[in-house]
Amino acid sequence: MGKGRVMVRVCPVCGRTSDEVPFIGGLCRDCYVERVGVAVVPRRIRFVYCQYCGSYKYQGGWNRGLGTVEETLLEYAHIVLSKRLKPTRDIAEAWIEGIRLDRPFTGPGLYRLLVSIAGRSRDGVEARQEVVVEVRADASVCPACTARLTKRGYEAIVQIRGSTGRLGEKYRREVRGFLEGLDPHLREAIVKTEEGRDGIDLYVLDHTSARVIASKVRAAFMGRTIDTYKLVGRRPDGKRRGRLTVSVRIPEIEPGQVLLVGGRETLFLGRTRRGGLFVDMRSGEQFELDAEALWERGFTPHPGGAPERRLMLLSRSGGTYVFLDAETGYQRVLEYPGEYVHVYTDTLEEGRLYRAFQAGRRLYILGEAVEEGE
Ligand SMILES: [Zn+2]
Ligand SMILES: [Zn+2]
Repeated sequence: MGKGRVMVRVCPVCGRTSDEVPFIGGLCRDCYVERVGVAVVPRRIRFVYCQYCGSYKYQGGWNRGLGTVEETLLEYAHIVLSKRLKPTRDIAEAWIEGIRLDRPFTGPGLYRLLVSIAGRSRDGVEARQEVVVEVRADASVCPACTARLTKRGYEAIVQIRGSTGRLGEKYRREVRGFLEGLDPHLREAIVKTEEGRDGIDLYVLDHTSARVIASKVRAAFMGRTIDTYKLVGRRPDGKRRGRLTVSVRIPEIEPGQVLLVGGRETLFLGRTRRGGLFVDMRSGEQFELDAEALWERGFTPHPGGAPERRLMLLSRSGGTYVFLDAETGYQRVLEYPGEYVHVYTDTLEEGRLYRAFQAGRRLYILGEAVEEGE
């Protein structure tokens, strides 16, 4: 094509030419945006949110909201409008650049969304447009909050128990603290909590949340879970309805406790990320067991276990540890060659009192002991 054949287009609306302004289709960009628009979006949308937890309804289901209802509303509008946005005739692609509310969100009611839409023509000409979309915000109560408020509607129970049956008070306290630290969406799935003689029962909205909660408790406390499933009828839609019970058993063992683990006399040193740290008291071998392995091997408190001793470190020199035994009023002096002393505490200082266990010739030092009268 020769130079002379470049066609200059003239906008039939305003008369400007394609030498002056970009064109989209047969119109200049400004007139195209004004007459045709960049994209078509619904003029009105509806936003239903839960007044208790801030979750919102979308495509028939309920979804977790963001930090505030206003943020959720804007995010929801972004999703809905992006999905239903249709580029006009000569626009190849369009998207939403931003959405604002005309006034701060204060609760249910009618709001206006100021939506900026951007698009690009097939020739790569970009165009922008501001549109106003009305949104009706309706407050409702989501099924999770309904269940929690009415204390009904749970589909699973998580039973937290001790290894020997009843869960002791110390463990209950730890479990309660742990549950408080769960993710908000898991905490919200707990419809009610009941404490009975045997332990703690959590009534949970759905099976998935119950399994997640149970596995978190299991991981934190070296527990073991057992699922039972019972058919309890049908839902209104005809689907089978089952009630899941997940029983979590927590080993009631304490650091410093002597156990028989798989028949071996074992000192429990404490929990680790993977499970627990143990010492075979005969061989001195230290080993880590995850919860599964611990339960598989079996563990029982060892009745003839080593009594806890409270020893004050006097000196540590020449490979020899010298302690004073607190039980004898610091009268008895105990000496141990260094190779028989196993220290499981970060610092060991002279003049301080430590909890220790003796097994055979070995001495295990677990941590600082509280001085009597403190
Ligand atoms: Zn024009
Ligand atoms: Zn809710």
